Amino acid sequence: MAQVISRAGWGARPASRRLDRITKTRGVKVHYTGGHVPLDIVDDHRRCLELVLGIQRMHMAGGREQPYSDIGYNLVACPHRRIFVGRGPGVIPAANGPGLNSQHYAVLALVGSSGFTEPNDELLHAVLDAVAYLREHGGAGREIRGHRDGYATSCPGGPLYAWVRAGAPRPTGKSVDPMEVIMRKLPVLKLGDKGWDVKTMHHLLIARDYAGLAGVSDVAFTEAHERGVEGLQRAAGIAVDGVVGPDTWRVLLRL
Ligand SMILES: [Zn+2]
Ligand SMILES: [Zn+2]
Repeated sequence: MAQVISRAGWGARPASRRLDRITKTRGVKVHYTGGHVPLDIVDDHRRCLELVLGIQRMHMAGGREQPYSDIGYNLVACPHRRIFVGRGPGVIPAANGPGLNSQHYAVLALVGSSGFTEPNDELLHAVLDAVAYLREHGGAGREIRGHRDGYATSCPGGPLYAWVRAGAPRPTGKSVDPMEVIMRKLPVLKLGDKGWDVKTMHHLLIARDYAGLAGVSDVAFTEAHERGVEGLQRAAGIAVDGVVGPDTWRVLLRL
């Protein structure tokens, strides 16, 4: 089950008026932001917080034609398998369109129409966890639909809607941190090595403020690089061997 972030936990503004209650729905409608979601959201949960705060601000300021009393969604699911409490369970949402809000709860998935558009497994898990939460605490029924079902909108976007249409399956397989996958593809570099990855390392060392590479070519892994790598390893508190393996790549890439 996803970790649930309370309204106090994300610094929600209080609703501008008392919200209408609801005891059960036919199910849940899934939404996307409809705007740009930065690609680096996958590596930075703070982006999720910024987006949720921005959406609440926009909804309450009238960004969706008339001002909402609160963020329009009941829950928000993020790509780190966390759930933000919006209006929460037991409250009528404002996001599904006129006449449609008492029938389904509204869950926002933090994907957009540009940038981060393809939900990762952690986000799909979070959406399903949000649905389970609304069933447990808010009397949500079995249906999982997209915003565009019954309302003219592109929401929740092609990839997410395809998943909804496929029956919203729980992703299978052990969940893998996408950065771990990237890391595993990077080679181990040592003195004398050449190639594109050496060039990458060279420039990452410079970006990490290593001053020992002035006038040093980025074509081969030299002793100057080795000294830089050792300094970096020492500063990071990892094994000091002058070889760029997974732990050192992680430091170089600031992960
Ligand atoms: Zn929507
Ligand atoms: Zn997140």
